Amino acid sequence: MNIVIFGPPGAGKGTQSKFIVKKFNLYQLSTGELLRNEIKNKTQLGLKISSIMNSGELVSDLIVSNLIEKFVSNKSYKNKIIFDGYPRNIIQAKNLDTLLSKYDQKIDLVLKLSVSLETVKKRIAERQALEKREDDSEEVAVKRYKNYEISSEPVLTYYKKLNLLKLVNGEAGISDINLEISGLIDSIKG
Ligand code: AMP
Repeated sequence: MNIVIFGPPGAGKGTQSKFIVKKFNLYQLSTGELLRNEIKNKTQLGLKISSIMNSGELVSDLIVSNLIEKFVSNKSYKNKIIFDGYPRNIIQAKNLDTLLSKYDQKIDLVLKLSVSLETVKKRIAERQALEKREDDSEEVAVKRYKNYEISSEPVLTYYKKLNLLKLVNGEAGISDINLEISGLIDSIKG
């Protein structure tokens, strides 16, 4: 089973992915984390993308697509991936379908976590105090939220048409969201 978890910054994608990974024995593929590692390790790619990421813009589709392929092509992760933070736009959604079918896989479920801008601001401020992410200032968080709103709509329509989309209220408490998501995954496992 491959799952996409979708939502604005601060929606709880990372937190919920970590829970799903444990409970259903999946692997989390967070493009944001992979990219942050490149910056931390000062790789050539990391140097190239750090200013883009810190300003809250998206890095190029090609860069993320290459990172994704390394994961999708790995047999140990076959049909066990939770995509966290990917796809972010319609080009990436189509790329992902092509890539998955190249490796004889598909998406089984898309979870959309909805949260308001007010909640995002509050959560990002809390995360900033704990994690010190460069892109977690309020100004950049608002920009990331707005970017998300612009590029997400076509992605959601795309997955809705494919009958893969399930909406989850991201304003609820962490354990309530855990329960709701577990139920949705169980129901598609049949
Ligand atoms: P995240 O950890 O998912 O909030 O991502 C943090 C930052 O990484 C984003 O603001 C983008 O700059 C970059 N990023 C993560 N995933 C993607 C993606 N799928 N496409 C483009 N940029 C991404």
